[in-house]
Amino acid sequence: MGGPIVELRDVVKAYGVTRAVDHLSLEIRQGEFFSILGPSGSGKTTLLRLLAGFERPDRGEVWIEGRLMQEVPPNLRPVNLVFQHYALFPHLTVFGNVAFGLEMRGVSRHEIVSRVAAALEMVRLTGKQERTPTQLSGGEQQRVALARALVNRPAVVLLDEPLGALDQQLRQEMQVELKGIQERVGLTFICVTHHQGEALTMSDRVAVMDQGRALQVGSPREVYDRPASTFVANFIGISNFLTGSVDSVHGARCTIRVPNLPEIVARHRGGIGEGGRVSLALRPERLHLSREADLNGFDNAVPARVAKAIYGGHEMQYQLRLSDDVLWTARVPNDGTVERRFALDETVFVRWNADEGAILVE
Ligand code: ADP
Repeated sequence: MGGPIVELRDVVKAYGVTRAVDHLSLEIRQGEFFSILGPSGSGKTTLLRLLAGFERPDRGEVWIEGRLMQEVPPNLRPVNLVFQHYALFPHLTVFGNVAFGLEMRGVSRHEIVSRVAAALEMVRLTGKQERTPTQLSGGEQQRVALARALVNRPAVVLLDEPLGALDQQLRQEMQVELKGIQERVGLTFICVTHHQGEALTMSDRVAVMDQGRALQVGSPREVYDRPASTFVANFIGISNFLTGSVDSVHGARCTIRVPNLPEIVARHRGGIGEGGRVSLALRPERLHLSREADLNGFDNAVPARVAKAIYGGHEMQYQLRLSDDVLWTARVPNDGTVERRFALDETVFVRWNADEGAILVE
């Protein structure tokens, strides 16, 4: 992966009093699959439109391939946008759809034929060029839309919720497919999505956005295992939190005092002091449940009452009441052994290691 190909420097874009993009600075590297992840209204589409040139920043600068984009119109930018609903021409064949832009620009027939063939090969649609969009599956239509972008040889491909129109199963297949295509063509892909699983599966790096700001930028692993704030932890799918005060700090470890619970041992990344308020965020699948009260090699063991037990086929999901105001979720692989399942109202011990979870400074 190379140096920065896209840079946003302190970009602001407001609609009336709403700051859709709010002092955003980002660097996206040559050849990476970069996802912009955030809830609806967080400014993702506006950011994509600023890159494509459909919007201009009120403040700040957008640079692509080392050029300031301020005065560059959309059609002269080295980017191509793939729309969410593909915007394919229904009456044209696959070939016609992919060739359309080149034909409009007066590219020679000979060159069109070879470039369309190359683009269709990149998305593995060779042999389907005479079909019309209605004769294609949803995933194939998506790949035609992508080929239509790739045929222009852009430096950066912009994708707006690329898998949004597909059903769940196809979505998962296409995540792998899309990442594969990006790796084969070696181009920079910038993808907008509100779907955290999708962003984590496909991306080299992810920016988590809220209210026009990037709250955290990092690899999927960093964002998943080391969320920088409660918002990111929540958005990435953590449902278990404990809030308390720091009792002691020893190197990378600390102990946390939480009302009505045993003292908790956790690992921290600095920025905390004795007496300070922190939250611990823990993933449902990192918890171990037992009927025994001992630590059994774990750093923490906390009693809880089973408030709900949900059978989910490959896993059991438990809702666990730790105290009056703390309700956690645990996911435990279902190995088919009925004796190992826990019943409603049963007392269990929730065990986990200090290395699991993230300490968030309140
Ligand atoms: P997202 O793509 O994350 O859903 P958007 O970039 O579409 O977010 O929107 C960010 C904010 O800017 C929202 O509050 C939205 O209502 C507002 N917004 C976006 N486009 C316009 C527009 N053309 N006019 C007025 N407000 C807009």
